[in-house]
Amino acid sequence: MAITVKTVRRPDPAGTSYLRATLRGFRHIFEKKWTMQYPEQTSQDDWTISKRYRGTHRMAVDEQGRAKCVACGLCPQICPANCIKLIPGEDERGNRYPLVYEIDEFRCIFCGYCQEVCPEEAIHVGVHYENSEFERSGFVYDLERLMRQSHEVSSLWDPADPAGQ
Ligand code: SF4
Ligand code: SF4
Repeated sequence: MAITVKTVRRPDPAGTSYLRATLRGFRHIFEKKWTMQYPEQTSQDDWTISKRYRGTHRMAVDEQGRAKCVACGLCPQICPANCIKLIPGEDERGNRYPLVYEIDEFRCIFCGYCQEVCPEEAIHVGVHYENSEFERSGFVYDLERLMRQSHEVSSLWDPADPAGQ
């Protein structure tokens, strides 16, 4: 491919009117406002957070209130940020479960791979963005905290609907 050079010409100062440009800017006062008064306002009728937004995690629980995770080890294996800590345990019947399951949300890049790879649909990224903490350690979510999260879970990327319509 041939490389071309595009010459950008500066506007002629003689033909520039700052007053006209300023007056033109005033029309924005009457246009629709796209800003919100956060945190008083978190959503409005014509603006809601996308279902595919990937925020802090949530661990799904079964009917008995136990974590659905079977400690298969796939999510810490695939995690590109290496931010999932899993220590598997096994009960007397040979069922695996997480003795320790932690996610460092500060290191997480919210790629959603853990959700995609989980065979039990146990771990999910969530539609949630209010994650401030006073201490750095508050961003390491342990299993209990992950199970307590109640926000909506993110919907996965669908190849049949790449734009999420
Ligand atoms: S969303 Fe990505 S980076 Fe974050 S814990 Fe899951 S796999 Fe790791
Ligand atoms: S992929 Fe799912 S079942 Fe496997 S360790 Fe992770 S959360 Fe648990």
